[in-house]
Amino acid sequence: MKTKVVTIDREHMDMDAIREAGEILAAGGLVAFPTETVYGLGGDGLKENAAARIYAAKGRPSDNPLILHIAELSALEVLAKEVPELAYRLAEKFWPGPLTMILKKSEIVPMATTGGLSTVAIRMPSDEIAREIIRASGTYIAAPSANLSGRPSPTTAEHVVEDLSGRVEMIVDGGPSDIGLESSIIDLSGDVPMILRPGFITKEDFEQIVAEVEYDKAVLATKPQDSVVAKAPGMKYRHYAPQGQIYIVEGETDAVVSTINELSAKAAEAGVRVAVLCAEETKERYTCDKIFSLGSLKSEKEISAHLFAALRAFDTEHITVIYSESFENTKLHQAIMNRLRKAAGYQTIQAK
Ligand code: AMP
Ligand code: MG
Repeated sequence: MKTKVVTIDREHMDMDAIREAGEILAAGGLVAFPTETVYGLGGDGLKENAAARIYAAKGRPSDNPLILHIAELSALEVLAKEVPELAYRLAEKFWPGPLTMILKKSEIVPMATTGGLSTVAIRMPSDEIAREIIRASGTYIAAPSANLSGRPSPTTAEHVVEDLSGRVEMIVDGGPSDIGLESSIIDLSGDVPMILRPGFITKEDFEQIVAEVEYDKAVLATKPQDSVVAKAPGMKYRHYAPQGQIYIVEGETDAVVSTINELSAKAAEAGVRVAVLCAEETKERYTCDKIFSLGSLKSEKEISAHLFAALRAFDTEHITVIYSESFENTKLHQAIMNRLRKAAGYQTIQAK
């Protein structure tokens, strides 16, 4: 299949390109498009065949449910059987935006989209290109991250082209994703609201709206065995892993810097292609030849926006060992470390 790549300028949106994307989706085809979290691989969420094509294009196991993307709040009542009052309060505060809510599904949502579950995941993205494409399709768009299964989520159209060229009808380039981490997922289908995936909207943010909210155990996993008992089915799969091995070095800053310098020097001596993953604040203190800085700890979005691109760059540069800081002092610590720990296969080193 030939994949058409179109660039859309968000200031002056090319409505012909949006219309074409909508037509492809309405006909059961696949379109990858930008969102504020990561790029999505869209297909008609109400068509079983479209869901099957999404799974095939990603090489994703079909018990891993898809998130339905909507452009209007009224869609909530169409897709969910019951909409609790809390869902409206969360929508009012966080939609459009990087929040996915899990609710009991209505009849019209096929099991093929929900991975066989009786619940459905719903999100209204704030990215205007995404919302225009959803509107133009006339349906609700199932859109997992637009990467091959197991690879880091894409935060630029180039990442999508790397993974999905020849597998989808169209890729829409709207520039780099603003947040760069997948949406926060909150499950409202049970008694207590549960955070199934940490993201830009944090537990503290939720607590402003709802008194009681808990993390699913797998979210806080620091060991592989904890992550296996996952409520959100996708969380059990190996994710984001580059070909090289990542080691997260934990401890007090000075100790982390000296431990990483020692380990990276030893590895380089042994002829290993080694890199350091760090924040802007400590970058100058490392002696390794290859240093990847994600940005400043002071900016809540810099680290998150650059993480997945760095994970991909390790592969492009054939790095086999990566020593990483643990980005403790950021608002998005939970969300960032959740991805980084998975990418590292939970390998950590205590700094001395
Ligand atoms: P992605 O679309 O790649 O961001 O991944 C979607 C993830 O959302 C899945 O891997 C699940 O972890 C989660 N998810 C989607 N639908 C449900 C659901 N009905 N119940 C629990 N988790 C869900
Ligand atoms: Mg994904």
